[in-house]
Amino acid sequence: MSLNHKGELKDQNLFKENTKLQPNEYRGSAAKDLIDCRLSGWPKAQMLAAEICDFYGDYLQYYESSALESSQYQIKLQHEPIALQYARIELQLDTPRMAEALMHELLHLSIRMRGYPIGEKFSIPYELAEYAGTIIDFYPRIGNLLEHELIIEPFVGFGFEKKNFLSCLSPAPDYQELASTVPSLKEQIGLAWWCLEYFRHWISTRHWVGDEAYIYADSALFWGSKVHPEMRIIAQKIREFIESGALTDIKNHHLHVNTLLTLMRIPVFTDWVSIQTSSDGKAVANRLIEEDLVISYNRYNHYAGNSILSLFQAGFCHL
Ligand SMILES: [Zn+2]
Repeated sequence: MSLNHKGELKDQNLFKENTKLQPNEYRGSAAKDLIDCRLSGWPKAQMLAAEICDFYGDYLQYYESSALESSQYQIKLQHEPIALQYARIELQLDTPRMAEALMHELLHLSIRMRGYPIGEKFSIPYELAEYAGTIIDFYPRIGNLLEHELIIEPFVGFGFEKKNFLSCLSPAPDYQELASTVPSLKEQIGLAWWCLEYFRHWISTRHWVGDEAYIYADSALFWGSKVHPEMRIIAQKIREFIESGALTDIKNHHLHVNTLLTLMRIPVFTDWVSIQTSSDGKAVANRLIEEDLVISYNRYNHYAGNSILSLFQAGFCHL
């Protein structure tokens, strides 16, 4: 269930080409064959899995082990020049939801095949520089949760039970304690932190069966709004935004994600990358160019109507 997007956000000098195969690690067609095996008994899932494996081709890496603490996926990009480095799935073996966990991670990879772009670059304002590490960690967490909105439906459509979509919920810390003892949570970065805490629990109510996520969300909102009273209205806007279904709009997905980031007082993505199939059938990463963004912006205005646009503008002004 967890995601490590950090590769997308790191400087290219930190990338090291990983060419050696470890035990239980498979690439390309070998990965495809084993994944197909792991999904036996789920024919619809197998069909989509084959399509996803073909889309990534030789860029696909698959690793499985019972020693893993969870399953995860990663799409790693090289930034200058932009290029796909690999798409990787790590599957925790010997759990009661192995096929489900594998399909969950594959569905994360399928989002790029469906045409949704990846947020690639952002800039952190000088006054938030001391919180850069915290802010950088926000993006993969938000991305993972937003992607769950896009993949829960096909997951259930394959015949899997919703209760097996996530392995577990990440629990809530003691918000009462934090609200009174951590000074930075009262500062500018604190509002973003509280918004993310609320958001991660609230959105999980849509992907999880059971009451825990509601209870955690209520607690985050109660204590967060004691520190930042404006959080109540922001929380309402976040809920309305997600429930509007705007995120499913592929053409303007990047604008919608930035709308959400703006609402949460988190710096927006300035560059976006889509992964497409080139004329020779290989997956390639392309940066969205300015022209695409302008066209999309006009369409967005037209498509989304005034309510979402005004959220976008209002939030942007406050940032
Ligand atoms: Zn996930």
